[in-house]
Amino acid sequence: MEQGRVEKAHHIVVLADQGQGHINPMLQFSKRLASKGIKITVATTLSNAKSMKATLSYSMITFESIYDDCSQGGVIGPGGFKGFLDRFQASGSTNLTRFILDHEHPVKCLVYDANIPWASKITTQLDIAGAAFFTQSCATAATYYPMYCEVYEKTPLSMPSFPVITGLPKLRFPNLPSLGCSTGRYPPIIIHILGQFDNFGKADWVLFNSFDKLEEEVVNWMKKVWDVVTIGPTLPSFYLDKRVENDNEYGFNIHKPNSSNFMEWLDSKKTGSVVYVSFGSAANLCAEQITELADALRQSNIMFLWVVKPDEQSKLPIDFSKETSGKGLVVTWCSQLEVLAHHAIGCFISHCGWNSTLEAISFGVPIVAMPQILDQIINAHFLEKVWSVGLIAKASEDEKGVTASEEIYRCIREVLEGERGQEIRKNITSLKELAKEAIDTSGSSDKHIDEFISQLDPAYL
Ligand code: UDP
Repeated sequence: MEQGRVEKAHHIVVLADQGQGHINPMLQFSKRLASKGIKITVATTLSNAKSMKATLSYSMITFESIYDDCSQGGVIGPGGFKGFLDRFQASGSTNLTRFILDHEHPVKCLVYDANIPWASKITTQLDIAGAAFFTQSCATAATYYPMYCEVYEKTPLSMPSFPVITGLPKLRFPNLPSLGCSTGRYPPIIIHILGQFDNFGKADWVLFNSFDKLEEEVVNWMKKVWDVVTIGPTLPSFYLDKRVENDNEYGFNIHKPNSSNFMEWLDSKKTGSVVYVSFGSAANLCAEQITELADALRQSNIMFLWVVKPDEQSKLPIDFSKETSGKGLVVTWCSQLEVLAHHAIGCFISHCGWNSTLEAISFGVPIVAMPQILDQIINAHFLEKVWSVGLIAKASEDEKGVTASEEIYRCIREVLEGERGQEIRKNITSLKELAKEAIDTSGSSDKHIDEFISQLDPAYL
């Protein structure tokens, strides 16, 4: 791209939270904006900025560190998670403000992860536009809102009652087991997550990584009260017709895989014959759960690719990899999008993080849901009961909430070979088409992105 185009382009700063599940959608959104001629600076922690600079190269996107998490111990430094949040806010807000003020290329707008509540103060102080970006579903936001009012002592906005969605369980405080709030004490992480609603009233835009047809009823309901805008699913540009320049990467990985031959391994497998197992970047499964999963995979004749993160590896049964060699592959990390796009994958055993949910839908891969905490439980519910594109492998009802190997095995078989599986594949193929439609040129999400840009610059359209 010629230098002149970058110099003339509008400049948007995208402030990403540090987790993989937060960076991925914001990075893909940045690439989408860049493909429409916007200059982007992704502001993030030092460790992420360093790896992004080293692995990604786009002429319209630069990476800027606003907080030195390397020397300050990251989220496990002094004071735990709360200490990290305080330090991130103190240094991050000062550095980001300075960066925006000093930049030779005036910043039009700050798009910030809704999980970073101090970002809206910067937009007010500097008098620039602000967009809060939600990396979760609209249904999750709708579910968390009453809890936010409770925890932050806000009077709820008067709104029509929640839409009746087939089978949606009562996911309201204090009945939301996933949040563990029934004790009345809220861990800092919950307070932090719920704090994202502070942005609803302060932001000029509230962007959701979702698409209208996926969550139609919830989106329509939310739009009666908040001006929410769906811009997803955020996927790499080569999934679309319009490629972002140099976009040869499936994404950015905080973790590195221990083995690079998983794609070759998949190449040698028949279409739809492999089960992909991954619980995202943050969940740390207990030893019992890993044993049950291992038993389900070992006893079946199904090929599998299983992501067991480095800190979970010691929980694998001894000799598991040796015993299952030829049938399965255990890796510490993989390029999930590349894997889900592979024809050999027939089913995805997932914790149902929102990105994994959207990615499975976008590549048409049926899910066996094993949600662990937070919004994963809501996403799993939608996957099975609302969209009928997966099955929930039920966990025990005791405190441990472990899913037995027989139940996991039953769900895999049902999805791969059962009658229900056929229906699930049909449904997910239709949803996949709707996802593609939404982000294709002039699809609902693409139009929303164009409208967002044209509100920043009326001359854009
Ligand atoms: N991911 C990946 N490789 C892996 C596991 C996960 O690239 O081995 C990516 C996945 O594609 C997704 C993100 O990490 O974009 C995880 O986000 P999600 O919301 O699903 O879960 P979280 O990690 O936030 O719990």
